[in-house]
Amino acid sequence: MILDTILPIPDLAYARRVLSIQPHYDDNDIGAGGTLAQLAQAGAEILYLTVTDDLMGIIDTTLTDEAARRILIQDQEQAAARIGVRQQYWLNFPDAGDYSTTALRRDLLKMLRQLRPDWVFAPDPWLAYEAHHDHIQTGLAAAEAVIQVDLTKISSSDPAVDEAYTPHEIRGMAFYYTREPNHIQPIDDTWEAKLEAVRCYVSQFTPPAMAQLIGALDAKSRQAAAGRDFTHGEPLKVLHPQSLHCGI
Ligand SMILES: [Zn+2]
Repeated sequence: MILDTILPIPDLAYARRVLSIQPHYDDNDIGAGGTLAQLAQAGAEILYLTVTDDLMGIIDTTLTDEAARRILIQDQEQAAARIGVRQQYWLNFPDAGDYSTTALRRDLLKMLRQLRPDWVFAPDPWLAYEAHHDHIQTGLAAAEAVIQVDLTKISSSDPAVDEAYTPHEIRGMAFYYTREPNHIQPIDDTWEAKLEAVRCYVSQFTPPAMAQLIGALDAKSRQAAAGRDFTHGEPLKVLHPQSLHCGI
């Protein structure tokens, strides 16, 4: 296709500093943990940003919010060690709560301008039948922040960060949880690490729910890899940032 020669799909293998943005504490690993673990092993810095406080999905509803937060962070730290995540950040928007895409975009602009990743991961906000607003808002605000990062007249939530910012290049954006993948990442070598990470999220999955999740991930990853020379694959929609506006 001629467009591929003008604006080719960027090559993930060149990612050096990845900011993976997730609505809830486990989405990065469920959606793209195998890919992110590979990039970490290849020497890329992997940074995780969690948008919401994720307090609505906790199994033990007798916990105070403060105690729940501590436990969620514990789960995340254990999972991060399996994937090779260098640093984690939280924005603490209310889980399933009332907040705007614009407010979230302002915080994401701040993080992008501060952290200067060359790749950004997020859930695909255009996933058909996605009913969870946190997922849609996170993907949309992330994509919008990626195309606006150099336009410092569009304010982030921190004027000092905008003032200090100098332009940098975001080479690619990868959407996970997508039904329109243009890339299947082979993840056989990090499949076990991904599963180990996902199994750390015990505060939000009962043992039967976890078994069901692992079974679904196995089936989906095999389906993605069908007909190829690997067993497990992660479907991604990988785009150049310029492709995130006006369909070019
Ligand atoms: Zn989620």
